[in-house]
Amino acid sequence: MTTDARVEEAGYTVARRPNPDVARIARSFLNEHARAGIFDAMGLPEPSLHFVVDRWGGHLARAFAPSSDFDYDPPGILISPRAITAASRRYDVDLATTIESTLLHEYGHLWFRKGFGEPDEVVPSDEEEEIVEAFAHQAWRTGDWMAALDTMRRRAAAP
Ligand SMILES: [Zn+2]
Repeated sequence: MTTDARVEEAGYTVARRPNPDVARIARSFLNEHARAGIFDAMGLPEPSLHFVVDRWGGHLARAFAPSSDFDYDPPGILISPRAITAASRRYDVDLATTIESTLLHEYGHLWFRKGFGEPDEVVPSDEEEEIVEAFAHQAWRTGDWMAALDTMRRRAAAP
């Protein structure tokens, strides 16, 4: 099981007291997604969730996948509660929507890490970014992960 210590070892700073609303909503969505079978559908282990203070120049979250061997190196998702709350206010999108779409986006990145090893070698990162964002949007809008995953598979395989 991934621990915060492993995340800190990788150079991130774990938030000691993350915004409780962000923490509660994010954990609840992740559990809900796991129960609904999204990780099984994507061939991913359930990622661990970590709240960090890093903001990566405006990004809200980051996939944590030290290697593409998820049996050896379980994946995680790092979330910046401060960046999430700031984005929710800035774009006037409710917190739950911001968090759920962010999580779905990061699942997409984890899927790339697992499916393709070093993602940049297969799909340029701009293209990966665009594909996972489309996946997150479709999955969030329709609630149909399988269809969203099919779209992502097709697009990732396209030249
Ligand atoms: Zn991204």
